[in-house]
Amino acid sequence: MSQHDSFEKPQIGSDLFDVPFIRPEFPRGEDVATDMNEIVQSNWFTNFGPREREFRGEVAEYVGGDSVAVTFANATLALTVALAQLTGSHARGYVIAPSFTFAAGPQAIRWVGHEPILIDIDERTLQPSLTSAREAFERFGDQIVGILYCNTFGIGGDSVAAWESMARQFGVPLIIDSAAGFGSEYSLGDKVGTRGDCEIFSFHATKPFAIGEGGAALTRDRSLAARLSAGSNFGFMDHAGASIPGTNGKLQEINAAIGIRQLQTFDIALEARRRHLQRYHDLISRNVDGYFPRNDLLSSVCFASVVLPSASVRDAVLSELHSCGVEARAYYSPPIHLQPAFTETPRVDSLGVTESVYTRILSLPVFPSLPESAFERVEEAVQRHPA
Ligand SMILES: *Cc1c(COP(=O)(O)O)cnc(C)c1O
Repeated sequence: MSQHDSFEKPQIGSDLFDVPFIRPEFPRGEDVATDMNEIVQSNWFTNFGPREREFRGEVAEYVGGDSVAVTFANATLALTVALAQLTGSHARGYVIAPSFTFAAGPQAIRWVGHEPILIDIDERTLQPSLTSAREAFERFGDQIVGILYCNTFGIGGDSVAAWESMARQFGVPLIIDSAAGFGSEYSLGDKVGTRGDCEIFSFHATKPFAIGEGGAALTRDRSLAARLSAGSNFGFMDHAGASIPGTNGKLQEINAAIGIRQLQTFDIALEARRRHLQRYHDLISRNVDGYFPRNDLLSSVCFASVVLPSASVRDAVLSELHSCGVEARAYYSPPIHLQPAFTETPRVDSLGVTESVYTRILSLPVFPSLPESAFERVEEAVQRHPA
């Protein structure tokens, strides 16, 4: 497996592996066809139609805690519009972001005209490091116009309150990329989607809550919600035409209809994912000195991520799994600062934890219909390469 395999198109339904990395549970084709027929009859395909409105309401209700939801065509556009609304009034500046994340956030920072400052993660949680962020503020001071915190793998970070205070202290917005985290809980029981200035979810086919392409921004600030919604619709506010920065980021009716169906069965699928993750916890602790990021059992469990004792153990287990038909992967490998578009991007002095973790991490499939054989093969593979 090369470092770049994580950029391949996700092979949903691929038969290259007995056990694919991801297999979304989708509504039956007949049911989606019924929805599509109704959409055609109603002659309302996009632009905040009845299904989008219903879905938006249900997403907010699911998350709770006073948040309102603004839907988007995907999470990357949600991130871009949120950054534009919250940091766009500044001249070119810097936005703090972890290197250990998916490229969408750092790319969105650039689309808005800023540059990321890459920070490290915490070894135990794999979440962005507060110490590292403080170092960025010391070095770049008031050139910093925002923080893009990432809830790693959609897991709710347990120091989110400290990030909110840091953002307040320095007078910058806190945007939280919780892309894979729809359904996750923070350690105090509140749902992911309720913190920061806003939180972003992805509903991409590869995420635990999948509608094809789609996303949402959640915020408790009604006036920000109105601007985010306008930002997804060319910046049109009221009837004055384009009033604020905007693009076309609207969610289509058919994807909203799929989302409404997905919500009906989501909690059952989520329980299955958490059960699978618990089994991985048990089999890893029986066999090898590895650890899982803190609070992962409270998350939506996009996949199971375990940090193994060394890069050589990880590489051996990964290639063994591939040879026995299990499509394991390594996220996030390589991290942002080692990707060609970002090698010159400013960063804090040390990204040492990121550089160690990305060589040791193993990502395992957890989709609800995961077969028993997956656990057996993973257990055999780690038994063969204990250290
Ligand atoms: C998947 C993902 C995104 C991008 O989501 P899209 O809906 O595909 O645009 C952004 N950030 C993170 C952390 C992700 O995992």
